[in-house]
Amino acid sequence: MFIYADNAATTKMSRTAIEAMLPFLDGYYGNPSSLYAAGQKAKEALESARADIARCIGADPREIIFTSGGSESDNQAVLSAAFAGAGKGKKHIVSDTIEHHAVLHTLKKLEREGFEITLVPVGENGIVRAEDIKAAIRDDTCLVTVMYANNEIGTIQPVKEIGAVCRERGVVFHTDAVQAVGHIPVDVNADNIDLLSASAHKFRGPKGVGFLYARRGVRLYNLIEGGAQERGKRAGTENVAGIAAMSAALKEAVGNMEANSKKLCSLRDRLIKGLSEIPHSALNGDANRRLPSNVNFCFEGIEGESLLLLLDDKGICASSGSACTSGSLDPSHVLLAIGRVHDVAHGSLRLTPGEDATEAEIDYIIDSVKEVVERLRGFSPVWRDLVAGKKEFIL
Ligand SMILES: *Cc1c(COP(=O)(O)O)cnc(C)c1O
Repeated sequence: MFIYADNAATTKMSRTAIEAMLPFLDGYYGNPSSLYAAGQKAKEALESARADIARCIGADPREIIFTSGGSESDNQAVLSAAFAGAGKGKKHIVSDTIEHHAVLHTLKKLEREGFEITLVPVGENGIVRAEDIKAAIRDDTCLVTVMYANNEIGTIQPVKEIGAVCRERGVVFHTDAVQAVGHIPVDVNADNIDLLSASAHKFRGPKGVGFLYARRGVRLYNLIEGGAQERGKRAGTENVAGIAAMSAALKEAVGNMEANSKKLCSLRDRLIKGLSEIPHSALNGDANRRLPSNVNFCFEGIEGESLLLLLDDKGICASSGSACTSGSLDPSHVLLAIGRVHDVAHGSLRLTPGEDATEAEIDYIIDSVKEVVERLRGFSPVWRDLVAGKKEFIL
């Protein structure tokens, strides 16, 4: 048995995306900036990918900048709005406590350079309220950055409402939509978005390529200086094969979104129901306003890391906290932000099955997790204390 249930970390490339890539690896390998025909073929592919990607999020092709992925897009978006703001004496930024580190660490860096950052807390359901964002905006706020959907607990934020608040106050609004694009409907105009980050490997495209949407008129700061590629906003010879594959993957994901989402929501709810039967467990994040494939649980009295190792023995790929936090002793900042105490946050498990998963596989995951949790609790001193009444159960 091999079940890949870690699609929030990365996805398997779709066959269509792999095939879209091939012609630019061995046939049309020319530099898109070159004038001869082989280069122009690459240039055409680049521009047709730009148009297709723009259409998928309701943007104009001139508003799409190709980058190396979600992290780069997040860095460029946040720094662009910050530096443009600083030029007008506005050095305050509003965000929330469950952002990806690509945003949080960029904000930390800005804080060291004299910016003031307000991180609005989320509720126990893992959702930030638009009213709270509104209340945090000041006259000197230059940017609001709130993710579309969370990578750990899958909660979907009220992006449209937050965008409307920003529009009203004349503040630039960025959203890290890396987990949303290709999975749930995203429209930069309907959602009032000024800057948006996306990454191909989260929607079955290749790793190391992504894009930044920047609404016309929003000033950009260049992270990378050099040639005049990407309208002078991102230097470096374009990753033509990767971009062609990203566009193919996104078109496919958007085309199949309704069907995939329906199937995944049903598998997700089956998984949630099954795991809820484990005593002293709890679902993390809102049960309804969450991504179609995200399931995240805490199990009291165990360590997430050991859980992952034993699940791996059973052929199940899952994650604890996030890929970035695993390997470190700190529990996930997202789980702490929704009010999980350290001990409980350590016993977390994220399962994000793919659209090709079956009910039988979901049932196998449920049985495996039940068995492994029971086994781990059997030799956990913390669990022994809980059962003996020396410690109080939290869940
Ligand atoms: C994966 C992820 C990123 C980083 O994207 P990369 O392409 O891996 O750099 C940023 N934000 C969120 C929400 C993510 O899930």
